[in-house]
Amino acid sequence: MKKIVFLLLIFAEHGLSQKINVGLYFEHVVKKINFSSNTGSYMIYCDSSFIGECKLDESILITAQENGMKLSMGDRIILTKKAVFIPNKYQDYFQIKPLIPELKSRVYEGELHIETTKNNNLKIVNYIPLNDYLEGVVESEAGVGQTFEYYKVQSIISRTYALKNWQRHEKEGFNLCDLVHCQAYLHKRNAAKNLVDSAVLTTNNKVLVHQDTSYAPTFFHANCGGEISNPEMVWNTSIEGLSSFKDPFCTHTKQATWKKTIPLEKWSSFFSKTYNFPIQDSTHFYWMTNFSQESRLSFFIHPIFGIPLRDIREEFRLKSTFFSVSLIENNIVLSGRGFGHGVGLCQEGAMNMTKQGYRAEDILNYYFPSSRLESVSFIRE
Ligand SMILES: [Zn+2]
Ligand SMILES: [Zn+2]
Repeated sequence: MKKIVFLLLIFAEHGLSQKINVGLYFEHVVKKINFSSNTGSYMIYCDSSFIGECKLDESILITAQENGMKLSMGDRIILTKKAVFIPNKYQDYFQIKPLIPELKSRVYEGELHIETTKNNNLKIVNYIPLNDYLEGVVESEAGVGQTFEYYKVQSIISRTYALKNWQRHEKEGFNLCDLVHCQAYLHKRNAAKNLVDSAVLTTNNKVLVHQDTSYAPTFFHANCGGEISNPEMVWNTSIEGLSSFKDPFCTHTKQATWKKTIPLEKWSSFFSKTYNFPIQDSTHFYWMTNFSQESRLSFFIHPIFGIPLRDIREEFRLKSTFFSVSLIENNIVLSGRGFGHGVGLCQEGAMNMTKQGYRAEDILNYYFPSSRLESVSFIRE
């Protein structure tokens, strides 16, 4: 009984049909954008007053300035602190193109809310129903050419992730950002649109729930290299329900292995400067240039030296921490496996499983064995 009440509460709070607020171009300091309507028309409100419409193929320039922003619509100039663009019809979509700095344009459904920040930059937020947001996330995170079953997997883990992390950007005034930091939400309407939309709809209201009746921690990554990481290796903290295990499903896929060559001098100087590692000593030098990782480890050479593999990954921008080291002439050659942190669901493994006939439910059960799939209809009983 306790479980049912708790889940009802979280759904009542967030409501799956409720709109989610997503910060766009979050990693950039945007000063000027161009807004245009790709289908239908948009009502424009400035400081809560209706000021007109943006019709099909029309565009509006929005420029941040001291204490607000300037909207340029043809000859008309409007000064405001907040501009809101609302589609006249559900599922119309707009295009947004940052001009300062110049960035790639993107296409979104839903409403667009723009304010200025304390530093006079534009804060760009998309207000959109959760499932419509998920269509964009699934497209961005899974790309084109996947099976319907895989899009279902991605829909469920991304829905669970969004609800679990609902307040992640509360401080900035929205729920989630558009980056991998939360979940990539870079565009809508690519070539996989119909399949993706239908996967989100088919899994409507389905989420992964953890034993203790909260949303499951649905982390995911591109390829685990054959072994799922323990969260402690990556973030120094354990997460209930996630642990390490061998994954045979991704070892022959695109990103299963990688190689990288680094000049010996660069490699040695990192360890000697950052960790005071005695590179002059021949035994230590040998260890630093000959390291093998059959099974995932947390530390380089030995924990006694206190060199986390994640620090090496960050310093040399490596695809993963799952690598071995050898010395060839004056170069360090890294032979690596996998791409990403390795925690939770392995996307390429899951994609491969769908091609072998596994269903979305089997795959979620495989990567999140201590979680279970539930839906709002079940919870409301
Ligand atoms: Zn974020
Ligand atoms: Zn894997």
